[in-house]
Amino acid sequence: MTSHVFLALGSNLNDPVAQIQQAITALASSVDAIECAPLYQSKPLGPQDQPDFVNTVISGYTDLSPNALLSALQGIEKQQQRVKNQHWGPRTIDIDILFYDDLRLNTPQLTIPHKELFYRSFVTIPLFDLIPNGIMPTGDQLERNRYDSSKLVQIDT
Ligand code: AMP
Repeated sequence: MTSHVFLALGSNLNDPVAQIQQAITALASSVDAIECAPLYQSKPLGPQDQPDFVNTVISGYTDLSPNALLSALQGIEKQQQRVKNQHWGPRTIDIDILFYDDLRLNTPQLTIPHKELFYRSFVTIPLFDLIPNGIMPTGDQLERNRYDSSKLVQIDT
């Protein structure tokens, strides 16, 4: 059975734009009809002595179960970290499941919708690019005016 999924991608190391593009190419083997929001650059939330982040959100369709999708995402994360960073240093790519149809799931491995989604404008702003009316797959309404887009810079790719 095919499910409509939304995934958040972020990177701040080793050419983040290329990392995100590489991850999307890899995702195409498990996710069909990928639609990608623009990429946005922003300052890190925590310590400032690290490079800016690049983030985006994609949507697509998958036959994988939530856990199988998580394994596929972790496979891509490992692949890109191995290629770029032999000693498991800082992360080059992070991929999270935001939504999986209208599923609500809370297990030790997976929380869907993703817990911190609604607090991060670098996730919600690209999500609005894909869902302009702000009605989430779960039926919840995301309010655009709750999010500050002024610190996000859209990247031309
Ligand atoms: P992080 O590297 O901080 O994104 O955390 C990765 C861990 O978060 C994984 O081992 C997952 O088991 C867990 N996790 C919980 N909910 C989610 C989700 N919605 N998407 C991706 N990972 C998740």
